[in-house]
Amino acid sequence: MSNNTIALLPDHVANQIAAGEVVQRPASVVKELLENAIDAGATNIKLIIKDAGKTLIQVIDNGKGMNPFDARLCFERHATSKISSADDLFTLTTKGFRGEALASIAAVAQVELKTRQAQDVVGQKIVMEGSKVTVQEECQTSVGTSITVKNLFFNIPARRNFLKNDQIEQKHIIDEIERVAIPHTGIHFTLTSNGNEVLNLPAGNLMQRIKSLLGAYIQKELVHIAEDTSFVKITGYVSLPDAAIKTKKEQYFFVNNRFVKNPFLNHAIYEAYKDLIGFQSHPRYFIFLELDPKHIDINIHPTKTEVKFTDDKTVYMLLVSSIKRALGKANASPSLDFDQEMSMIGKPYSGNRPLTAPTIEYNSHYNPFQTRSGQPSEPNPLQKTNKQHWENLFEGFKSQPDTMPAEADQTSLSAVQQQSVSFSVFQLNAKYLITTYEQNVLVVDQQRAHERVLYEHYLQTKSESAGPSQQLLFPEQIELSANDFALVKGLMPEFKQLGFDIEVFGKNSIVINGSPADMQDFNLLELVEGILETYKLNTIDAKLDKHDNLCRALAKNMSIKYGKVLEEEEMKQLLQSLMQCENPMYTASGKGVMMQLPYGDIEKYFKR
Ligand code: ADP
Ligand code: MG
Repeated sequence: MSNNTIALLPDHVANQIAAGEVVQRPASVVKELLENAIDAGATNIKLIIKDAGKTLIQVIDNGKGMNPFDARLCFERHATSKISSADDLFTLTTKGFRGEALASIAAVAQVELKTRQAQDVVGQKIVMEGSKVTVQEECQTSVGTSITVKNLFFNIPARRNFLKNDQIEQKHIIDEIERVAIPHTGIHFTLTSNGNEVLNLPAGNLMQRIKSLLGAYIQKELVHIAEDTSFVKITGYVSLPDAAIKTKKEQYFFVNNRFVKNPFLNHAIYEAYKDLIGFQSHPRYFIFLELDPKHIDINIHPTKTEVKFTDDKTVYMLLVSSIKRALGKANASPSLDFDQEMSMIGKPYSGNRPLTAPTIEYNSHYNPFQTRSGQPSEPNPLQKTNKQHWENLFEGFKSQPDTMPAEADQTSLSAVQQQSVSFSVFQLNAKYLITTYEQNVLVVDQQRAHERVLYEHYLQTKSESAGPSQQLLFPEQIELSANDFALVKGLMPEFKQLGFDIEVFGKNSIVINGSPADMQDFNLLELVEGILETYKLNTIDAKLDKHDNLCRALAKNMSIKYGKVLEEEEMKQLLQSLMQCENPMYTASGKGVMMQLPYGDIEKYFKR
């Protein structure tokens, strides 16, 4: 006996240890076998499992098969037909390349392989148990490969006990199938579990594949994205902001048709949806990136779901812009529909009267914070943008021959009159505004709508050196807690930008000499406290820059509240301002602003 303490592990033990990296659960086996079938050029892949793969996993493909020599060799560690030198790693087009999967699986299960190539009359059968060949013989089998994996971890009870219940393990298997089935839409996949066919995914295009996996409903929730540059090609689908969901399901990135996870790119997606979806809402996406393999390093993780790019910042920017564009095109907000209604207001053009750009009348003294009796003071800061936008609404008219006859004013007046008739709105419960656009009913939350309008308005004031401010007749002194005082001091420049004229006044108190013009009617003490409260809450919830946060806080605290009865003119003004918002659908914090009741649904109801 020697005293040496170091000994080489027997092969089957080494294989078992190495297998731990590749084979964690039945789903890992499924992934490797499916990938091998795809690499073999199969167009039909059948997956059969029993007890969520714990008892049986079988993959039958109609790919190119293996000759008897390869059939034996494929179970050796580092046996691969896919690369032969390290350089090949940079031109990789196959799923596998490490030559580890079959060796690993054979180390921890009972495996039977049957395979035949088209030119051979008989196939080859190999049975393995714990890395040892127990049977090798000729057999009758169709062209392609069938691999059966029985009793996974039969020789490692600890790992077998570690497996979760069948429901969870099967869920993992289905996840893996989705990840390979989505990018390989030309392959017909089926999954049979305990004798029942659970999935049947015929060959088709990407949309058909997504629908057969997730249900036909998904089609109308997705928009197509496409971006083609010399560095990367981006295609796929992303969900409309409205269709955002509360879980992170259905988020798929594929790089050269391989499912990957990449937090950086994931961040790009959320960036593109910023302000379009709420907190804790998640877009769904199926995004394909294609780029030269030499710009990718897939090989940084054994299970190969992580990926690095040589230039991930470019990919990031392209992703953001292509998604934004696609969402814009899909017209994620109903503002255009609204426009359409507006542009239908005029008489149809008959050709014998000169075309004019109608102008819309609006109350230039409207101030939602003014009590009705009060004398109008400052013009509503939104009016300027209103006007500009109203003109845009009629761009279609303007692009016609540009004749502006003298009687233009009259024509526009009649347009206004007709407009106020066709655009009617009423208030429900001092809380909701109800109106129609096209043939749909629109229910708008008055407080949230106003919050959105104000938020976008305040955001814009950033570009100006100081917001429109109004000096107070009686400067107001406000006593603050030490914390709030410190906060206000830190926010001085931002407050100033928004039109506040604030001074520090002794210990923990401030004096407000002036405030944004639209703030006059508020109790300043309450308002400032509310704003600081919201501001602090926002800092916990989200990483916002100071200005953005302050804008949100202002908008929230200054919005008209539920219970406020609005005049018709005020409601219209609010709706119009809302429709001019960049994102009328959600408040800055992601709460839904409006609900749409499609005409079709109304019809359906009365058909019953
Ligand atoms: P890798 O896929 O990394 O090459 P594997 O252990 O998964 O390693 O497979 C080893 C080799 O066995 C493959 O390179 C391939 O040549 C062969 N092989 C495995 N599965 C199949 C299959 N379904 N059809 C044809 N050949 C296969
Ligand atoms: Mg493989």
